[in-house]
Amino acid sequence: MPYVKSVSLDELSVELSKRTGNFSQWIRGKLIEEFSGDLDHMMGVDFRDWLGTGKCNPMLAKGCCPLCWPAGVPNGKERKELFDDHQAGERGGSK
Ligand SMILES: [Zn+2]
Repeated sequence: MPYVKSVSLDELSVELSKRTGNFSQWIRGKLIEEFSGDLDHMMGVDFRDWLGTGKCNPMLAKGCCPLCWPAGVPNGKERKELFDDHQAGERGGSK
């Protein structure tokens, strides 16, 4: 899946790029932010509430919604935290 593109940076931009942490992830997020008006969610609004997040299910066979999950599919630990939070909310009846 990954496509590798090289970019030319000057001294200032290379210094600033060090603040982003994961530069590729930051670039992906900025591209989605810039062009989000041209993108559609992977799921219809009525179905967009995965684990009470209000987001598309990130595990769809057709891919992960870039608008809901700009950093990509949440990893196992992140999914477990979302699941646990959702379960706690269900038990507490706070939803
Ligand atoms: Zn979405």
